[in-house]
Amino acid sequence: MTFAELGLSAPTLEALAHLGYEHPTPIQEQAIPPLLEGRDVVGQAQTGTGKTAAFGLPMIEYADPDDPEVQALVLTPTRELCIQVTQALRAYGQRHRVDVVAVFGGAPIRDQAVRLKDAQVVVGTVGRVMDMIDRHHLFLEQARYVVLDEADEMLDLGFLEDVEAILRRCPMGRQTALFSATVPPEIQRLADTFMHDPVTIRVRSATLTIDTVDHHYVEVPDREKPDALVRVLKEERPEQAIVFVRTKVGVDRLGRRLTDAGVRVKTLHGDMPQGQRDGVMIAFKEGRERLLVATDVAARGLDITGVSHVVNYDIPNSPDIYVHRIGRTGRAGESGRAITLITPRQRRELAAIERHARTQIEPWAPGERRTQRERAEREAWRPRHTKPHSRDGVPYAKLILGAGRTDGLEPADVVGAVVDHTHLENDDVRHVRVLERFSFVEVPEPRAREVAEKMSGKRIRGTRLRAEVTNRP
Ligand code: AMP
Repeated sequence: MTFAELGLSAPTLEALAHLGYEHPTPIQEQAIPPLLEGRDVVGQAQTGTGKTAAFGLPMIEYADPDDPEVQALVLTPTRELCIQVTQALRAYGQRHRVDVVAVFGGAPIRDQAVRLKDAQVVVGTVGRVMDMIDRHHLFLEQARYVVLDEADEMLDLGFLEDVEAILRRCPMGRQTALFSATVPPEIQRLADTFMHDPVTIRVRSATLTIDTVDHHYVEVPDREKPDALVRVLKEERPEQAIVFVRTKVGVDRLGRRLTDAGVRVKTLHGDMPQGQRDGVMIAFKEGRERLLVATDVAARGLDITGVSHVVNYDIPNSPDIYVHRIGRTGRAGESGRAITLITPRQRRELAAIERHARTQIEPWAPGERRTQRERAEREAWRPRHTKPHSRDGVPYAKLILGAGRTDGLEPADVVGAVVDHTHLENDDVRHVRVLERFSFVEVPEPRAREVAEKMSGKRIRGTRLRAEVTNRP
């Protein structure tokens, strides 16, 4: 599926190309067409699935830049999510001249009220939106496209009545979309009361991410955790990492320990003044800070593209939280690393996470990361063909290899093995697919048998390979 096939306009497609989105995610494939048709949608999906674009792209298509009224509204439970959705909508609407305005508590109401005068799309936290309505700064009589984002969080935070009051201010004939990680009875009731024959879409967990992440653990006694963390950070050299700590006090304490050890970090938790929290968040999002130590609550809904590492300094209380935390790394096809510190008594909890997330968490080994990095650098420098050749017209054949993800294989390993053991070059190798227990790779047909013979018996990541030419399509 392509974004064009979903029915999006040329300016939107340009904006997406600019952002580097190549293919729609499952929730986008399923939600965008009915939303463009004007249908109501209930989407069960978490952060990390691409839900913001799922409702945001049709919203941008819907908004008319020549109409000065507020035409669309997104309600969010937290200011963090509010800021993030606003940034995303502005990016999607780059080519559309639509004014997207954020309203959230903790910042001067007067400045936001001034900006609301030009707003066509409003993204707001529930409390501040109520406030703006009461003070006659915000009018929703023309808001015909309304989104409730992370509805279950709004319920948990006690905002449901306000949400209902806001919905009653919007036109009856509006289109409503509701996104929620879970759908408890109260949310179902809200949907039944305020939505019209919605299309229901369910996407399992953070599908964008979990498969593209390498999971590791480090086992140490409790008192050695700070030193272990410093070791991990020095060895891994993350581009950007979030370190999760269970409590606010723990965040502060670890922040100090790391600073004392000469590691530059910022901390984020709910007891910090709002202004300071925003400052940290923005500095991290813009890449000015590399390491963030945070509680789950403070980092909730905070999506940070390009975070290379998630470190669980404290093992999460439940497997769900693990998946949710990891949802912050390995975005958009880039692979990420997740490292969890456990004490010897927490092995059982780790096993529960492995089962729930259907993934393997391997012991962390110092040095491994360095080897990976060095190999990537080597491959980047491997000399290219000196004489250009066209692969057009050359038939390709598919090889099947008797090793896969369970053996720790990655696509780069397969390409590396072919190139190391034959005379083929990187460019000759194509369509590598690493499955659970097998992998496939395509090579030029005239060389296929020879490649299979040369690779058979060789080791990749400690596994001895079997390679055969296959007739499978
Ligand atoms: P969300 O679940 O909306 O918080 O989005 C998760 C992350 O995935 C964000 O960083 C988006 O920018 C990114 N993203 C969303 N859709 C796509 C896509 N189709 N291709 C690549 N990245 C995407």
